[in-house]
Amino acid sequence: MQTDELTPERLRRLAELRPGGRVLSAYLNLEPSEFATPAARSSAIGSLVDEAGRKVKAEHELSHDERQGLEEDVKRLRDYLRGPSFSADGAHGLAVFCSGAAGLFETVKLPRPVDSGIMIDDSPWVEPLAGMLSADRWAVLLANRRSARLFEGTRDTLEEVESFQDDVRGQSESGGPEQSRAERSVAEEHEEHLRKAAYEAFKHYRRARFDHFLVGIPSELRGTMEHQLHASLRERLRGFLEVDVERSSADDVARAAAGEIEAAERRREREKLDRLVEAVGTGGRGSAGLDDTLGALNERRVETLLLAEGFSAPGSVCSSDGFVAAQEGGTCPVDGGELVRRDDIVESAIELALGQSAEVLVVRHHDDLDEHGSIGATLRF
Ligand SMILES: [Zn+2]
Repeated sequence: MQTDELTPERLRRLAELRPGGRVLSAYLNLEPSEFATPAARSSAIGSLVDEAGRKVKAEHELSHDERQGLEEDVKRLRDYLRGPSFSADGAHGLAVFCSGAAGLFETVKLPRPVDSGIMIDDSPWVEPLAGMLSADRWAVLLANRRSARLFEGTRDTLEEVESFQDDVRGQSESGGPEQSRAERSVAEEHEEHLRKAAYEAFKHYRRARFDHFLVGIPSELRGTMEHQLHASLRERLRGFLEVDVERSSADDVARAAAGEIEAAERRREREKLDRLVEAVGTGGRGSAGLDDTLGALNERRVETLLLAEGFSAPGSVCSSDGFVAAQEGGTCPVDGGELVRRDDIVESAIELALGQSAEVLVVRHHDDLDEHGSIGATLRF
């Protein structure tokens, strides 16, 4: 199982997948706090597999074949998690989607921790994945007087993409007027090095078009660096970091950047919420509350679906075209089919949103979406 990263394409495909059999979806939290020792890991896997067994038993209205298929899926899940091909390295959580009847066995490594749990449904359960993807790209430039390193990635993973050292002389130790000339030229070399670092970052920006930029640099060099940055980098500069320029690992850099990244997330949520509230207040392109937002999803008008973290509500869905309604029962106005009751209509709403290429934003840092029914959308038209 090689291509198990979470990408927008993959999320969308999983959301739209109706494999024609019952799907066992398993989520496993791999946070070090739960997975620090082999014993903790074994116990977490044990509880998850037990829960899968219990959920299959509790499923009503299964045919004999369906029940047998799900029981085999539980075994396959257990064998995978206990087997040699499973590794927790580098992931914060794991999702497994399994339907032997439909020939489906897919694992996804998650960039963020997740609550462990099991769902059984007609399609992969993607709700926990929806808030995890961030399209925003980040770059971090580390620079001191002789070294420069560039990291790039998302809020969850940064990788070093470039590094260089300049052969810059140290401070001169001789005295007299020659020293001040030498110092001036050393200062010029330092400035030249920073200019080069800023230019390398800009060249990288032209290729990679990141959205946010951070600089880790000794505080006395910040002014010089800022002055050297190309305007499009200055525009994206979100702050300066305190970090060891030469010895920090990518993880150290990510930790140092976490505060700025969270601040940017907060601002982004704020902007989307403000746009939503203003649009709803003026009768513009926005919807708030379950009824209106499901209506907009049915009309394929949603640009961004906003959900309060943890929000869930019952409703019903058409299993052939995905039409969603807040009320329970009734028929689908699209094809006249019977609507199926769901304990949590949010999963169906997310699937419908991803199917129309809408962004799904789980609002974590602000609580004013609650006043608007905990769900809303900005609309394309
Ligand atoms: Zn329908």
